[in-house]
Amino acid sequence: MDNKLMLMIPGPTPVPESVLLALAKHPIGHRSGEFGTIMAEVTAGLKWLHQTENDVLILTASGTGAMEAGIINFLSPGDRVLVGTNGKFGDRWAQLAEGFGLNVERVTAEWGKALDPEDFRTRLEADTAKDIKAVIVTHSETSTGVLNDLETINRHVKAHGALIIVDAVTSLGATNVPIDEWGLDVVASGSQKGFMLPPGLGFVAVGPKAWEAYATAKIPRFYLDLGKYRKDAAKNTTPFTPPVNMFFALQVALKMMQAEGLENIFARHHRQMNATRAAMKALGLPLFAADGTSSPAITAVAPVGVESEKIRSVMKKKFDIALAGGQDDLKGKIFRVGHLGFVCDRDILTAVGALEATLIE
Ligand code: PLP
Repeated sequence: MDNKLMLMIPGPTPVPESVLLALAKHPIGHRSGEFGTIMAEVTAGLKWLHQTENDVLILTASGTGAMEAGIINFLSPGDRVLVGTNGKFGDRWAQLAEGFGLNVERVTAEWGKALDPEDFRTRLEADTAKDIKAVIVTHSETSTGVLNDLETINRHVKAHGALIIVDAVTSLGATNVPIDEWGLDVVASGSQKGFMLPPGLGFVAVGPKAWEAYATAKIPRFYLDLGKYRKDAAKNTTPFTPPVNMFFALQVALKMMQAEGLENIFARHHRQMNATRAAMKALGLPLFAADGTSSPAITAVAPVGVESEKIRSVMKKKFDIALAGGQDDLKGKIFRVGHLGFVCDRDILTAVGALEATLIE
């Protein structure tokens, strides 16, 4: 059945037709020369997108699999870590780390507010802070539409010397995450976000300091053992059978991104964030994240006097536009407009027009 649904959610995001067509090709063997050529090209493209010379490894996993790989490969049970929590995905980091027996200390902010980099500085400068092994942060907190100030937090982490492990799942490909310039040790992301791909691939960028930690990390691992991915990436293949069609699609999507250019991609996301926020203000809809702390991938809105779930339902039924709802405690309190990946200015205008019509209902 033809699909008219417009995905204005923060993932899965819309997929360009040329990428969909790549998915429809016949699969090839992942040990073949043809696959090796594609693997070499997409690895180079991923390094470009991640602004890094570090390894960027491709996993058959969703973003959470990439996050899990980011913990189990570099840390050991009992290791002390600071985790920033100001939303569902910061909480997920904390749960993951606790699940693997790490000694987790949270640096929190209210949902809808950004993490305060000063809180990290104070905690990392304390006399008792020397044994903190890693600081774990979500860059774009998708559940609230907040962009945390990763650059400043990272500066405090660098002064301390701990590893920095980052969830860039909805910031990579939407805003600047210059891995080498900032010296980010581990960065996790997923295909169904800024990459303009369907769900199915996870990506982890790993720097030299993280590889040093890998050598002594003691959490048992097998499928997500990044050493295996690194070894096989050097031979332009993967340790296990990957979804080869997703690699065809990744090749096409990366070419599209390279043609647009990083600066233009970031500018488009920022313009669409600004346009969406201005429109919400004009419609009298309160924004959940304050100006200056908002994510270029997602705008969270907390309507007053109108039910957010009613808005979502009318938008879907009458206009074929899918908006995201609130998660956990925010269920029924907010709706979220995704403007991530393959989204053009016309999509924003359409969504805003439909929202205006919905509010008049
Ligand atoms: N981190 C962030 C910031 C996300 O937005 C998401 C997904 O929405 C994830 C992690 C988890 O990714 P996945 O659902 O692909 O496992």
